[in-house]
Amino acid sequence: MTRRPPIPSPPHHGGCLCGAARDRVDVPPMAINACHCQDCRKLTGAANLLMVAVPRDGFHHLSGAVDRFRKRADSGREVDIIRCAVCGTRLWHEPLASPALLFFAAGTLDESDWAIPTSHIWIEKAAPGTSFQPDAIQVQGQPATRDVLFDAFAAVYAKS
Ligand SMILES: [Zn+2]
Ligand SMILES: [Zn+2]
Repeated sequence: MTRRPPIPSPPHHGGCLCGAARDRVDVPPMAINACHCQDCRKLTGAANLLMVAVPRDGFHHLSGAVDRFRKRADSGREVDIIRCAVCGTRLWHEPLASPALLFFAAGTLDESDWAIPTSHIWIEKAAPGTSFQPDAIQVQGQPATRDVLFDAFAAVYAKS
């Protein structure tokens, strides 16, 4: 099984590389998802993007000017990508069709050791050598609904 440190109780604190942008999450995660799509690889410059889903009203942008970039996916879904205006760190995503939901980049947390994926999407685009946790689900392309991601997270953490 995947070794998973317990998820600490909120709040979780995070921010950007230069320190100007700070945020705080007051709620437990709903999903921990790694996306391997081309967009996420381009936008991060990394092999995939690890994001944590939370209710949007549990996420608080505390300080720092941010830039907003609206991306339209091939699926037609639109998402606002929020970055630090100074250093460009990608901080969080706001899907336009789901105003109650927000995804923040796990790597921007001050303490992110607990952020281990419970789901992987667009696995057919995954970089060679990518490893997958045995208890995380693997989805080809975009899941039909985000409930797939929430259910995967709940299934993993219900056991622990
Ligand atoms: Zn910054
Ligand atoms: Zn993606």
